[in-house]
Amino acid sequence: MKTIIEPFKIKSVEPIRFSTKEERIKILENAGYNPFLVKADDVLIDLLTDSGTSAMSAKQWAGIMDGDESYAGSRSFYRFEEMVKKITGDKFIIPTHQGRAAEKILFFIVGSEGKFIPNNTHFDTTRANIEFTGTEAVDLLVEVGKHPEQRADFKGNMDVEALEKFIKEKGPENIPLVMITVTNNSGGGQPVSMQNIKDVKQVCQKYKLPLFLDACRFAENAYFIKKREKGYSDKSILSICQEMFSYADGATMSAKKDALVNIGGFLSLNDDELAMKCRNLLIVTEGFPTYGGLAGRDLEAVAQGLEEVMDEHYLQYRIRSTEYLGEKMMDAGIPIIEPPGGHAIYIDAKRFLPNIPPQHFPGQSIVCEIYIDGGVRGVEIGSVMFGKYNKLTGELIPPPMELVRLAIPRRVYTQSHIDYVAEVIIETYKKRNELKGYEIIYEAPMLRHFTARFKPMK
Ligand SMILES: *Cc1c(COP(=O)(O)O)cnc(C)c1O
Repeated sequence: MKTIIEPFKIKSVEPIRFSTKEERIKILENAGYNPFLVKADDVLIDLLTDSGTSAMSAKQWAGIMDGDESYAGSRSFYRFEEMVKKITGDKFIIPTHQGRAAEKILFFIVGSEGKFIPNNTHFDTTRANIEFTGTEAVDLLVEVGKHPEQRADFKGNMDVEALEKFIKEKGPENIPLVMITVTNNSGGGQPVSMQNIKDVKQVCQKYKLPLFLDACRFAENAYFIKKREKGYSDKSILSICQEMFSYADGATMSAKKDALVNIGGFLSLNDDELAMKCRNLLIVTEGFPTYGGLAGRDLEAVAQGLEEVMDEHYLQYRIRSTEYLGEKMMDAGIPIIEPPGGHAIYIDAKRFLPNIPPQHFPGQSIVCEIYIDGGVRGVEIGSVMFGKYNKLTGELIPPPMELVRLAIPRRVYTQSHIDYVAEVIIETYKKRNELKGYEIIYEAPMLRHFTARFKPMK
């Protein structure tokens, strides 16, 4: 087989500012050893997130010029609405400024104290918006998804048995809806199978519960179904997406992922009454229903992006480039979540640095070192981000995994950029015995990972 090439030519370029290792040591020290506090201009390859970091196409930029900025009934809204309806098959499409705004509206209406919303794994903004209403957000991931070293085709699946048990235990009247996140972002970008969506739907039907998709990476999920699930290899990506959404009663979407834009989102719904309530709230918090917190030009770019993201050459390149980075790292013996997911590679920091305990933040140590070694920015997803403290003893209660996520922006980096990233991380891995742990010298009361400051241990 020949090399899978980037399925685009580059029309506009953005220079990378180079820095030396000595400069980066200083920069990181000034940033309190927290890459979130490093200026983006001081980063060579930025793998902090794949959210809102996509490169738009010439056609999307043309759409930006062509956008209709009418307050009500904008032509761009109707193009956007038609495109989203084509994919989801839903009756009501409500634009929002990003994914969490769609979540906020939906959960504000369906959530309240004493209720529960199950998911394969809730993304952090989803969990936060659910918990804000007093509802409990519950993760019901299949067992294999919890083991980084175990390989399976669909490690993002929901545990269907656990779901039914949970519904019986809590009572269907206390569960306003069930969610599935495709692909499972917090669980390593692992896909969910069509069979699993169907099985979950069946349980939902039995108890008359609506099923919603957190659809941020719906196209990447569809590509995995096409490649890995029996009966789908000859189907088009569009038809696989349509089938996925056909089992759902609605969806929340961050267009900053699989709509290939820098801002945007939507809520897609079938129920007349729920849609009316959502629209009424939208008018209070986002805007009129035909723009909902976005400009007409944004809606135009989303519509075009949704079309481009389902192109099979694009998805082949997309999924392969993530896998390519994962393979290079595995070949060098670096422990990662296997198999590589759709949008990111997750380094298993516990196995990378077995001598640094969670209390000294092994993930943070890796994140700092790869920045110093090569100007590569990743993010710690472990005790810094999710660690809690025992209120009596003050001891850290670490989360189950210590990870470093390297998220790949869409259409931004070429194969040589990715080769460079692999070289940097392999270099760091070779001297892993010299890496030091960190301690926190400042932390905010909530979401501390964004602003915490650290000090390397002696
Ligand atoms: C990004 C993301 C969201 C939230 O979307 P924003 O546009 O960042 O508000 C929700 N769910 C998942 C799975 C995501 O990846």
